[in-house]
Amino acid sequence: MLNNNIIPANASSIKIASNILRENGIISFPTETVYGLGASALSSDAIAKIYAVKKRPRFNPLIVHVSSLKKAKQIGIFNAETQKLAEIFWPGPLTIVVPIRENSLISDLVTAGLSTIALRVPSNNIALDLLNYCDIPLAAPSANLSGTVSPTTAKHVFDDFHDSVDIILDGGRCEYGIESTIILSSKDGFKLLRAGYITEDIIEKELGIIVQKYKSSAIIAPGQLEKHYAPKAKLRLNASTLLKDEEFIGFGKVPDGISSTINLSINGDLVEAAMNLFSILRSIDDLKLNNVAVAKIPNIGIGIAINDRLQRAAI
Ligand code: AMP
Ligand code: MG
Repeated sequence: MLNNNIIPANASSIKIASNILRENGIISFPTETVYGLGASALSSDAIAKIYAVKKRPRFNPLIVHVSSLKKAKQIGIFNAETQKLAEIFWPGPLTIVVPIRENSLISDLVTAGLSTIALRVPSNNIALDLLNYCDIPLAAPSANLSGTVSPTTAKHVFDDFHDSVDIILDGGRCEYGIESTIILSSKDGFKLLRAGYITEDIIEKELGIIVQKYKSSAIIAPGQLEKHYAPKAKLRLNASTLLKDEEFIGFGKVPDGISSTINLSINGDLVEAAMNLFSILRSIDDLKLNNVAVAKIPNIGIGIAINDRLQRAAI
């Protein structure tokens, strides 16, 4: 099948994408985290298409992308500390969940009926140009079928959706390759809903405010669902040996006696490993591998987010 709905992102394709969005169509665009499946957050028709195409359960709310904190404040209510958090980390790979304004005009489908909304200002230039040009808040979950591995290239998006997405803006590989950190701003402080590039430690250092673990029996972020990001292959984590019929995914130096051609980062660089993670998880399905052993990943910095995704992929 031809990939003819993939078009290089530039001023003219951004105009085409904006027109599709204004007519309540859906498009895919790159962000610094992963590729998003974008639609007008003001249109229930457009948002219904996103849930349908992704086969996403309607109880899983979507992140709304805007071009600035000013625009975000027209949709959500920011207290002083949350405003500071946004000023420090936006534009960037951080999503903030705040109470939604009554007059926000955002479709109820976006929030799945919650009284809060997840907002983010991305730093990727193509995403920002698109948001500025179309001037619509865009609901944009990751552009993959629900429950599967997030896309970090335009081809990954095409592989999941073919031509059921109007166009896919190709901006090359995503810079971070792992979904945004999600912080809930609640009455009793900041709570981490999803680990990402911006860790609790970084936030505490920059802001002097402790980020608490989120503890509740209710799942409010599907990134919290136990099984998520799942390839078809069975994964065995923290492996230092290779069992019969297994392929090895290394990180840094591979243990003696294992010949491995797949490595998250030969130099043992966690940022590089995060960038490669989803491409590698997708490629093991392309290679039709059934059993995969993954080397131990240090649980520090972005390694925390990598381990979080690997654990959910291994269930
Ligand atoms: P994705 O579909 O990969 O973009 O993931 C979006 C994430 O944001 C999911 O984990 C959602 O559950 C989470 N999310 C969106 N809106 C809210 C909200 N109002 N409260 C909590 N989590 C949210
Ligand atoms: Mg997702």
